[in-house]
Amino acid sequence: MLVFKFGGASVKSPEAVRNIGEILQRYKGEKIVVVVSAMGKTTNALERIIDFYTGGKSEKLNQEYKELKAYHLGVLSGLFADKAHQVHVDVEDLFEDMADRLTREPTMNYDYDYDQLICYGELLSTTIVSHFLNSSVAPTRWMDIRRSLKTDNTYREAKVDWELSTQLVNKHFVFRDERILITQGFLGSTINDQTTSLGREGSDYTAAILAYMLRAESVTIWKDVPGVLNADPKYFDDTILLEKLSYLDATELAYFGTSVIHPKTIKPLQNKNINLHVRSFLDPDASGTLVGNLSYSKLIPSFIFKMEQVLIRTSPLDFSFINEHNLEEIFGIFSKHGLKINLMQNSALSFKMIVNNDKRRLRLVIDELEEKFKVDYQTGLELVTIRYFDQSTIDRVMINKELILEQRGVHNIELVIRDLG
Ligand code: ASP
Ligand code: MG
Repeated sequence: MLVFKFGGASVKSPEAVRNIGEILQRYKGEKIVVVVSAMGKTTNALERIIDFYTGGKSEKLNQEYKELKAYHLGVLSGLFADKAHQVHVDVEDLFEDMADRLTREPTMNYDYDYDQLICYGELLSTTIVSHFLNSSVAPTRWMDIRRSLKTDNTYREAKVDWELSTQLVNKHFVFRDERILITQGFLGSTINDQTTSLGREGSDYTAAILAYMLRAESVTIWKDVPGVLNADPKYFDDTILLEKLSYLDATELAYFGTSVIHPKTIKPLQNKNINLHVRSFLDPDASGTLVGNLSYSKLIPSFIFKMEQVLIRTSPLDFSFINEHNLEEIFGIFSKHGLKINLMQNSALSFKMIVNNDKRRLRLVIDELEEKFKVDYQTGLELVTIRYFDQSTIDRVMINKELILEQRGVHNIELVIRDLG
């Protein structure tokens, strides 16, 4: 049994969905669990809808909702000529459910409301893709992942209940007459059946979880890039495909922000020694990147860029030193508001952290820090990690940049820089 994951770009249009069908045709003899993300930029659109909903902006909300619906109906009409096909009813039902949710008063819990609405992206995409595969590729069953993947109630960043979910997944993900089971990435639910989500870009993680629980032979993440590259082509012109990666190298690259693999994906696979393939849905003959229990001599340097970074500097109000007690307070505040620290560094009198410019969370964190510390911050920075660095790779990154902060390890260097151009 194989697990395939298709991300937003691979289902963004009728042509893209047809292409998935063609890829699956290549695996005629295989049983496959297919994990799908929301179509195109749907999750971002839903985030705007959620903000308008919780912020009481009903006109903008209606506009976004209409656009989202029109987009999905567009994909639908490109795939199904038959106006009487059941898929039209199922998609309409989902939009009605969502509209119904949007007429209720928001609760006081933003993260809870977020998860109850963000799920429609994946529910819609899997409904459409599943009907399409079923009518044109092979017998396919649509599975609601929320019946099987149980989590705690940390909305927007839910933690998986591995024991219970393993039981439920094995009970439900059974191939009967069909050879394809299709389900949603990114979603889960609490024991009380409240929808949860696993964090943005979490569908890779879902694929890994299912592969682990079902002891799959391998996981394939189908992307619009040839595999894992040594840098993002957005920032580099001469990128190189990494054909083989050990679990450790893949984990490190993902942890530092290689956007191709979600950081939580590797661990479950490594535990069961399951290979991960990262391949291009545009070029399914190419083998892409293989991540597994592999060894090789030194890898070429990889570059990971995080843009829109913010440096926060805190120091105690009373000019005392940074110590375990302040750090506990600082970390408590970050963890409470769910703002992740990408890099940290301390000196006697201050503690510095680099974070993403997540405006809502940043505001909450800074307001609370300011009650106890002197706080200042600088926006518009870039964080560059180089794995297997040397001086020439550092020089390459530093062209026309000012160095704000640097941290060196044996294999990795992290540079916080400001663009002078
Ligand atoms: N649709 C979700 C997101 O955009 C999950 C995923 O794509 O992995 O974050
Ligand atoms: Mg995605």
